[in-house]
Amino acid sequence: ATPAATMVGTTIGAQHGVLFKGGDILERAKDVDTVVFDKTGTLTEGQMELTDVVVFDGEGQPVADGGDPAVDGGQLTTHDQLSEDDVLRLAATAESGSEHPLARAIVDGAEDRGIDVTDPDDFENVPGHGIIATVSNSEVLVGNRKLLRDNGIDPSPAEDTMERLENEGKTAMLVAYEGKLVGVVADADTVKESAKDAVSQLQERRVDVMMITGDNERTARAVAEQVGIDPENVRAEVLPEDKSNAVEAIQNDGRKAMMVGDGVNDAPALAVAYVGTAIGSGTDVAIEAADVTLMRDDPLDVVKAIRISDATLVKIK
Ligand code: ADP
Ligand code: MG
Repeated sequence: ATPAATMVGTTIGAQHGVLFKGGDILERAKDVDTVVFDKTGTLTEGQMELTDVVVFDGEGQPVADGGDPAVDGGQLTTHDQLSEDDVLRLAATAESGSEHPLARAIVDGAEDRGIDVTDPDDFENVPGHGIIATVSNSEVLVGNRKLLRDNGIDPSPAEDTMERLENEGKTAMLVAYEGKLVGVVADADTVKESAKDAVSQLQERRVDVMMITGDNERTARAVAEQVGIDPENVRAEVLPEDKSNAVEAIQNDGRKAMMVGDGVNDAPALAVAYVGTAIGSGTDVAIEAADVTLMRDDPLDVVKAIRISDATLVKIK
């Protein structure tokens, strides 16, 4: 492209809230044949809300109405049967030191229900898996199946409950207390209004659309289905440090991938992608690593970025 055409394209982009970091990026975008979306905060709003609290009995079976409250003056008085509020209080207390959106939703959800959430005595983040906290001298785990398994707790009694919630597109988290599975809490996010249109418009342009997430396979597929992404194009349970490897693997067979993401976790993947595109409201780290920033946080602007690139380059041919 001539410098003039590039300038026009970059300016048109800026007018639409699509910021190209340079003329070379503008030229590249038209050649993208695969768009890889991060799930949370990119295809979804990233505003998690607590939706479910399920209590299990001593045998790991769900308890219909949560049993009697076992809390007295903020202290657990019995370990036999916890109530819904007990499980939620434990989970929220364990999570109160975490900045993870899943954690924030649990804490906010507990406070909305009038539960007094205190700080844990101690907590440890297990990236991609959950949290291990000490609450009133007892160990509380909140996280995925692997977190429990790695800590010697069998998550399988909760499998039916987990699958039910995950099939609804929710992120379900197991709660363990003193080495026992005591409940499940679930958070849900809403898919962005234009996500489905963005996916179908890309597919109409014969661009392969994929999704990558640290979330579990079932939740990821439920969300993919809502936006029209082929289940085969979903890469789930990808650990934060593996996102860039996943994008490299996608590009290994000669694909030119645009990675679209918002999180700190996404930055390395944005950097290795043929074109890295950050959501404007995302983290600074993601925006710095990216080649394009979408100021309006709108997945449809991914299509716009490719179109502007296309139009700019066609005109000068
Ligand atoms: P995402 O890609 O959605 O940001 P992460 O890689 O941060 O996901 O986490 C992957 C999975 O690990 C989550 O879906 C959840 O099951 C579990 N997890 C991570 N952090 C937490 C947490 N603070 N509390 C509970 N579960 C968590
Ligand atoms: Mg994200």
